[in-house]
Amino acid sequence: MLILIHPPVAKPCEPPPGIAKLCGALGHHGISHRVLDANLEGLLSLLDVSPIPSDTWTSRAFRHLSKHLASLCCWTAYQDGARYSRAVKDLNRILETVARSSRVRLGLANYEHEELSPTSSTGLLRAAENPENNPFYSYFEKRLLGLLKAQQPSAIGFSLNYLSQALCTFAMIGFLRRECPRVKLVLGGGLVTSWMRRPNWKNPFDGLVDHLVAGPGEAPLLSLMGVMPSGINHCTPNYDSFPVRDYIAPGPILPYSASSGCYWNRCSFCPERAEGNPYAPIPVKKVVVDLQHLADRQKPALIHLVDNAISPSLMKAISEDPPGVPWYGFARMTSHLTDLDFCLALRRSGCVMLKLGLESGDQTVLDSLDKGIHLEEASSALKNLKKAGIATYLYLLFGTPPEGLTEAQRTLEFVVRHQDSIGFLNLAIFNMPIYGPEAKQLETKSFYEGDLSLYMNFDHPKGWSRPLIRQFLDKEFKRHPAIAPILRRDPPVFTSNHAPFFVMDKERMRRGDEVMRR
Ligand code: SF4
Repeated sequence: MLILIHPPVAKPCEPPPGIAKLCGALGHHGISHRVLDANLEGLLSLLDVSPIPSDTWTSRAFRHLSKHLASLCCWTAYQDGARYSRAVKDLNRILETVARSSRVRLGLANYEHEELSPTSSTGLLRAAENPENNPFYSYFEKRLLGLLKAQQPSAIGFSLNYLSQALCTFAMIGFLRRECPRVKLVLGGGLVTSWMRRPNWKNPFDGLVDHLVAGPGEAPLLSLMGVMPSGINHCTPNYDSFPVRDYIAPGPILPYSASSGCYWNRCSFCPERAEGNPYAPIPVKKVVVDLQHLADRQKPALIHLVDNAISPSLMKAISEDPPGVPWYGFARMTSHLTDLDFCLALRRSGCVMLKLGLESGDQTVLDSLDKGIHLEEASSALKNLKKAGIATYLYLLFGTPPEGLTEAQRTLEFVVRHQDSIGFLNLAIFNMPIYGPEAKQLETKSFYEGDLSLYMNFDHPKGWSRPLIRQFLDKEFKRHPAIAPILRRDPPVFTSNHAPFFVMDKERMRRGDEVMRR
């Protein structure tokens, strides 16, 4: 028996796709396994505490807790931005209050310890040595002991994907090491893969974790369980063991990964490329069959394609053979989207939103980053998607090496010119991947303190430093009367994961409610 754990803290709105893939492969080979979404369970258990006497906001948040949770788990909150925002902020307020005594700033998507850093192996090892200090301790102590007794696992695997999960993962690992020294502990996931792909990687967790896994975990887990995987390249993910209807969403969201890596794989700033992750797509025919199977089985309200970039061939295949459920995901701004008929077909297939990484509104910056985007095409894509009724979630990246203030102002102008076609905006400041090609060319210094940091600080060649960028964003960009309303639309905390629910039409919402009732 193998137990797979999704540790806190990550947005509790959908099941983790990586573990679902592992379940598909384990089930296919007849390996008995259990899934524990310790993230969802842990957060709900912390929300379920007796009210702590505090200020007016916190008392109100405790008073409205069950109403807030109910409104976020049906369509009510998604029809009223102010109500949604109040509910999410109140839940965050409660988490912040209950975790304060553990010296943790906790939220629905956030975990920051006052002292321990998730980018330092010392911090993680200290979290493992003192699991009792973790705010989720009373939850996971009882839950893990119960599972150990009932399931008698021979191995327990953790899927660690975000920095906000790292300290809790190690607290749980430390606890298990103490309670069941003979059970094999396995640690994998996106963050672990990035650590292990750092240059000069040395494992600091020897003696605590039995196996660290970089990249896809199917083959290593199967061989740990005594099975030699043969000739199976892809197994359909399996969500049967997840509480798909309990997540914070108006209906089940089903994530699906149709590829790993990226078919473009050329953007100079991209961590995916810097890590050397190869592009491995699942054949589009298989994806179409998988999506229809999962839609039939789980009756989701929304499919979330989690690929770094959905390939145009997959978009075409889904348009021709839709899953019958609304869907969204990340796409590149390619010439395909300049074809209105292509966009209309996408919409008919159920596409409700596309996330698009534009990064900059300056052509020289885009060319220098090797983004492969032409601004006239991007402009036409945004207008076509708007006409087709597909919302856009546009990602911008400020402070890349070729960008200075002048170029950033061109990005601002581009956004203003397309304000009517942009649904949502995400603004980020560039972090230099520690192993990227540019890190070798520019003057760099360490950025985050810690031996597991994935980014470097660098002297910007145009003097466009982080304080100057922040000043530009706060004083100019975010305050622009054409941009401020777009930013205000962004759902707090859950951002793009919940944004599709705000753009799905009433008819779809009604159908979603029917699906929920079935
Ligand atoms: S399109 Fe996205 S994932 Fe692909 S190389 Fe560019 S930044 Fe990376």
